[in-house]
Formats: sequence, C-alpha cells, structure tokens
Amino acid sequence: MMDIENEKCGLGYKLLTPGPLTTTDTVKKEMLFDHCTWDDDYKRITLDIRKKLLELAQVSEKEYTVVLMQGSGTFGVESVLTSVVGDENKLLIVANGAYGERMEEIAEHAKVPYTIYREMYNQVPDAQKIAGILDADKEITHVAMVHSETTSGILNDVETVGKVVQERGLTMIVDAMSSFGGMEIPVKEWGIDFIISSANKCIQGVPGFSFIIANKEKLIQSKGKARSLSLDLYSQWETMNKDGKWRFTSPTHVVLAFAQALKELEEEGGIPARSRRYADNNRLLISKLGELGIRPYIGGRHQGPIITTFFYPENHRFSFQEMYDYMKERGYAIYPGKVTEADTFRIGNIGEIYKEDIQKVAELIKEFLEQKDMGGN
Ligand SMILES: *Cc1c(COP(=O)(O)O)cnc(C)c1O
Repeated sequence: MMDIENEKCGLGYKLLTPGPLTTTDTVKKEMLFDHCTWDDDYKRITLDIRKKLLELAQVSEKEYTVVLMQGSGTFGVESVLTSVVGDENKLLIVANGAYGERMEEIAEHAKVPYTIYREMYNQVPDAQKIAGILDADKEITHVAMVHSETTSGILNDVETVGKVVQERGLTMIVDAMSSFGGMEIPVKEWGIDFIISSANKCIQGVPGFSFIIANKEKLIQSKGKARSLSLDLYSQWETMNKDGKWRFTSPTHVVLAFAQALKELEEEGGIPARSRRYADNNRLLISKLGELGIRPYIGGRHQGPIITTFFYPENHRFSFQEMYDYMKERGYAIYPGKVTEADTFRIGNIGEIYKEDIQKVAELIKEFLEQKDMGGN
C-alpha cells in the first residue's frame, strides 16, 4: 500500500527518459485546480505563456508569434508540416534518426510533397550537402530537420543548415522538441521560421500540448493550406491570438503546470543555468559510465547534452529488462535503445535531475554489473 502511494506521489522513481520527465512537486500541485477555460484569468495565463516563450526563443513580438497546440509533440510537428507546406510547395526532410523519419511518415499520410535526405544515425547532416540538394532541386521551398535527435542523442547543426536555407530565401522548420529550453536557441539568428517543442521536455512541464514559435509573416501566408481541421496551425493561432482563448478544449491542468514550470525555469536562472546543469549532468554521466567500460554511441563533439545512447559493456550477459528492473527498484527509470544497428540503452539527464542523481545512477550500474559478474550466468 505504501509503495503504491509513494509511486503515485512521484517518489517511486525518477525518470531518466527524454520526456515525460521528473517534474517538481510545485509543478504537479498546480494541477489540483479545475480552471474555467473562458475565464479571463485563464486566458491571461495562455497569453503570458506565449509571451515568455518568445523571450526564451530570443525573438520579438513584431516578427514572431506563438501557437499552443493540444496533443503531444508529434501533433505539433504534424500541425506545422501539414499546415505550412502547401500542395504547390515541396519539403526537404533531413533525417538521421526516428524523429526525422517520423516527419516522412507525416508527409506520406497527408500527401505533403517532399523529398528526403537521409544520413546515418551517428552522423550529423551536412549543410553543404543540403545546399547542393537545394541548388539542384529548385522546387524545394521548405526544409525540416530535428535539432536534438532523441533517437541517438546526437545534436544536429541547425545553425549552419539554417543559414543555407535562409540564404536561398526558403522556409526552415525545426523539431527542437528535446532541446528547446534546455539549450540556447536564438531562433531568428539561426534562420528558423517554425520551431516546435512540447510541454513535457526541457521546460519541465507535464505532457498535454506542444508549442510552435512561428515567423508571423510566414504563418499568415499559410492561411488556408492546412489539410486537417484540428491541426490547422493558422486557425489555431487566429483564435488564440485574439485574447488567449484556445480554439477547442485546452488541457487546462497542463497549462497551469506549464506556467509554473516557466516560472521555475526563470528562478533557476533561465536557459543559461538550466543548460549548464544539463550539460554538467551529461558530462558526468558519460565520464562515470566510461569508468565502467560503457561507451557512448555518439560521444565526442556531436554528442548532445540531453540524452546519451550507450553500448552495453563488452561481453555483457544480461538483458535490458534485467537492468531496467534493477534500476527501477532502486529509484531510477532508464530507457531502451532505439538505434537500429547496435545493441544499446539510453539515459536521459533532463528534468529534475542533479549531479547526485547521476552519481547514484553510475553507482547502481556498477553494482548491477558486479552482481552479474559474480552470478556467473
Ligand atoms: C519527444 C520528441 C518528439 C515528440 O514525441 P511525442 O511522443 O509525440 O511527444 C518529437 N521529436 C523529438 C526529437 C522528440 O524528442
């Protein structure tokens, strides 16, 4: 009974996953209030969230705007791709992981005209190659890519690709789901027109909506192009931009929690402080596991600070499930690997995760490996 209660209170285990993440009790507590959706206070909260997101993106209200969209992160990506790339346009999808490939699935489903540039999961897409593709195919009007590819943990060079896209006067779409709020992303400076993230990643809210920071002029130009009613980005914005009222029922509890999470991000010292904590966590994790002979799949300068894919130690004799169960019983939930060509597991270091957690996790893995060795099975 106690165990169940503890687990329900979030004391059961911490999440070392790329979202949902471990959140603070104060963020969770906000959800105890049932808010009325057409109430002025509530609409003000939505407006305030939108304003703060612009600040985090380092863009002005004059040039950029924010749309909140019900659903998980994928709904946000789908909303953008199916609303801003018209039938007369062509999208270049850059993919070096499952989330890049998901954009292709979205384009297939909605019959969005597209072409794709695939890269190996352990390679960053090359901006010069992208320039070549754009110069060879003048029909391409939009480019979409993932910033932090959560599949592997690799960090793609959006800045350089953004320049290539901007120089050609094309539209740049970025899935920054697992990086926005956890790393500095000067959206305009990097040539990004639409950037997508969600409530339950680096802002440290709970799942329930995604958000899109959009170049206002390009958003307005997309009016009437959407292929879906509920994911129509322009219509969602048009309604929300009047007074903060969402178009359809909004996830009220999630919105309240998110407003609190933004406040706590500010209190932590904003993105500079949070990104430092995440990067420190990440470096410590890789170095501690390195001492145990566990190597990162990416590593080096393209390793992102959010999540790390690790190879199992040489000659290991255990399954992921065994390691997962061992860790979970001792307070931490880890993540299975997702790269296709190697046997790996993943550890995320975002959310309410600190140096002490990373040290503890490394100790637990060490204990687990020792036990496995002694067991001789
Ligand atoms: C989490 C994530 C998404 C969205 O996934 P959902 O399951 O829909 O929330 C998209 N792209 C990346 C890179 C992600 O990390």
